[in-house]
Amino acid sequence: MQSEVAKKFQVLGQPVHLLQDYPTWLIQRLQQGRGTHIVTLNAEMTIQAKENPHLAEAINQAELVIPDGAGVVIYLQMYKQKVQRCPGIELAEALLKQADQLQDKCPVYFYGGAPGVAQKAAQYWKQKNPNLKIVGITDGYISPDQQKELTQTLETLQPKIIFVGLGVPRQELWIAKNRHHCPNSIWIGIGGSFDIWAGIKERAPQWMQKLNLEWLYRLYQEPWRWRRMLALPHFAWKAILSLKTQNQN
Ligand code: UDP
Repeated sequence: MQSEVAKKFQVLGQPVHLLQDYPTWLIQRLQQGRGTHIVTLNAEMTIQAKENPHLAEAINQAELVIPDGAGVVIYLQMYKQKVQRCPGIELAEALLKQADQLQDKCPVYFYGGAPGVAQKAAQYWKQKNPNLKIVGITDGYISPDQQKELTQTLETLQPKIIFVGLGVPRQELWIAKNRHHCPNSIWIGIGGSFDIWAGIKERAPQWMQKLNLEWLYRLYQEPWRWRRMLALPHFAWKAILSLKTQNQN
């Protein structure tokens, strides 16, 4: 089967790949053993990347940048791009379902979250998908020595999919630095997804997701994020300015 060709578009200087079917595209890469770094782009990350050249470089080198956040989708729609939001957690779930089907052929690794959280998330997935082969779990608060051990373990095990939940930009920088240990694997930064699978946090209800209000629900669950969320009006302002400039040219 021919792979769909990703169309690349810029959102305030960061790339986004536009595809109709992200899971199918990725599953083909998985089967072909083509190493892939997946970045789940949202407005906050776009603004962070403007101030952090290392993050910008990691995003630019990733083989797949998906429109994870509503702000990014609205931006693309302003530029008349046909786009559908692809939340990172849903893409990660599609990958886990595929790994369950492939059983031993698709070992996966969980890295990140507070101690015990990724274990809980693994239990949740093993209950749902008993054939899923989770070959290792490491929490996201380890020493430099344990870091070394982790990369050695990854090198030995060569998991096909590595889920990294360290938050932005830590996870993107860590993947960019370490992906050479498993050059044929899929690496995905999943933010707080382990917390959700472990039942510690919840995703916004469907109706809020539909109204693009997931950010508001997060603020309600994690009010200490308010400072980080100032990136959202900043993003909106920059988006309006960029459209204005484009219309003047
Ligand atoms: N985390 C971690 N190690 C760290 C800092 C954070 O494993 O040194 C985890 C944290 O426990 C949480 C996730 O990273 O599970 C960050 O989640 P958040 O929803 O804040 O991600 P973001 O919005 O940055 O994608």
